[in-house]
Amino acid sequence: MARTNDVVDVLVIGAGASGGAFAWSLADAGINVMCLEQGGWMDPSAYPSTQDAWEIHKQTDFNPNPNFRSLPQDYPVNESGTPIAPLMFNAVGGSTIHWSAHFPRLHPSDFRVRTLDGVADDWPVSYQQLEPYFSLNDQMMGVAGITGDTAYPPKSERQTPPIPLGKLGDTIVRGFENLGWHWWPSDSAILTRPYDGRAACNNCGPCEIGCPLGAKASTDVTYWPKAIARGAMLKTNARVREITLGKDGLADGAVYYDSDGRVQRQKARIVVMACNGIGTPRLLLNSESSLFPDGLANTSGLVGRNLMFHPYSMVMGVFDEQLEGYKGPLGCAIISSEFYETDLSRGFVRGYAFQVIRNPGPATTAQGFVLSSPIPWGSDHHRVFGERFGRTITVAVIGEDLPESHNRVDLDPTLTDSDGIPAPKVDYRMSENSLKMMDHGIARATEVLQAAGAKEVLVNPLLRPAGWHLLGTARMGADAGNSVVDSYGRSHDVKNLFIIDGSIFVTAGAVNPTSTIQALALHIADYFKQNARHLLD
Ligand SMILES: Cc1cc2nc3c(=O)[nH]c(=O)nc-3n(C[C@H](O)[C@H](O)[C@H](O)COP(=O)(O)OP(=O)(O)OC[C@H]3O[C@@H](n4cnc5c(N)ncnc54)[C@H](O)[C@@H]3O)c2cc1C
Repeated sequence: MARTNDVVDVLVIGAGASGGAFAWSLADAGINVMCLEQGGWMDPSAYPSTQDAWEIHKQTDFNPNPNFRSLPQDYPVNESGTPIAPLMFNAVGGSTIHWSAHFPRLHPSDFRVRTLDGVADDWPVSYQQLEPYFSLNDQMMGVAGITGDTAYPPKSERQTPPIPLGKLGDTIVRGFENLGWHWWPSDSAILTRPYDGRAACNNCGPCEIGCPLGAKASTDVTYWPKAIARGAMLKTNARVREITLGKDGLADGAVYYDSDGRVQRQKARIVVMACNGIGTPRLLLNSESSLFPDGLANTSGLVGRNLMFHPYSMVMGVFDEQLEGYKGPLGCAIISSEFYETDLSRGFVRGYAFQVIRNPGPATTAQGFVLSSPIPWGSDHHRVFGERFGRTITVAVIGEDLPESHNRVDLDPTLTDSDGIPAPKVDYRMSENSLKMMDHGIARATEVLQAAGAKEVLVNPLLRPAGWHLLGTARMGADAGNSVVDSYGRSHDVKNLFIIDGSIFVTAGAVNPTSTIQALALHIADYFKQNARHLLD
């Protein structure tokens, strides 16, 4: 028998990138908000980044793939039908515990792809509408960078100077400059100076196993402490099984398992989903009822459809000189938007970005890092290891995959999590357009590495553990027949149900999505604040 808790005004499910931003914004305005999160608080002092065995942790309890990690708070994902494995973390802070904190915004053109290129759909919001929220989010997360990137409209002053490029960065810049191609020091949500009570980065490198200094902006150290100080309630180890409906067809709360496995019921006036592009469709599909037999808010049939990941090709240059590539944040040095916008003479529509990646530790180097095969075992091992360790630059090609309805998240018929809740199953394949785009990107990345002086270039055309970005599975739109939520994340079917995470992206752009996810969450939160009385009546 479920225990029923007192009714709250706004119930947010998921305490990750979007949930943290949203809950803070509402709490800051004095709105009664509670969040249910299936994971717990992380202890930054226990992060393994500074331990000898840090690379082992990266592959076990800090593996970004929940199927390998298998912690009690994780749920399994059937990934047999996709060449790109979905990655995430489940805790207060969500996947920002794991993320590399590369912090580009989607470009203005990304919001208008139907108008510009006749593909997919325009977003119901524009870059210009989101700009104040991008800026506010930068302030809350703390961004290292430098203004003046011509690929974007002007931005407000970055909070700290950019991450040092180091020898590796200086080397690849030589390649971009030789070719006359665009490059810019990446915006990174990693502090290079103390800011807002947080310490600066010490350039130790493995940001993806949690930052023990708090220099990397995960929402457990940025938004959540402020949200809680302003009255937001956060229940951890609370795994939501379904969103419930009242007789009037409106959402009236959620049923969840608490840390002792007991079923609890949380009543709410408004329910807000922030479980990411896989967790949110999973929960909606698990919340079927006589009113919504195909899953909650799914009259359009689009819940779980149009999954976009961003395919990643990894192009690694090997250099003669020692580049000290293991110094500094792994994923954040330089970005290039040279091939971002459509040029049909290339044989595909839309484009890709380059993201320059530094080097991993010794064990990961021996395992081949981003290549699909380890360096040779046996007599040649030490020679090849010596040639690679600290001496490689990886230019990652991050491509825009367009929404396609067959790429989807569904419920697996047999697989469940430890509470017996049906697990998601992912089916995804790359389009012809994406394949041509990645081929083009690999050739250009090879060119820039050679122009920088690489003596050898090695390629992984599609990185499998690269499902970092989970987008599009409950898309926004003005037309209820062709979208799940409106421009304020409000379900077309259930008026007091909102979605604020990466699921609502209409298209993916060709950059990491989190600054845009959070800007959208803050934009939707402002709508709440302006309409609180009407929404809560
Ligand atoms: C290894 C890695 C590297 C990355 N690097 C970058 C990067 O450099 N730049 C970038 O922009 N992005 C990066 N990302 C992606 C980024 O982390 C995500 O885009 C972002 O966190 C998504 O925000 P979200 O709010 O949609 O979901 P999340 O942050 O994933 O939060 C979802 C939360 O919902 C909770 N939840 C799910 N289901 C339930 C349930 N049933 N009940 C209760 N709680 C639930 C989860 O536990 C989780 O805490 C990376 C991700 C990974 C894994």
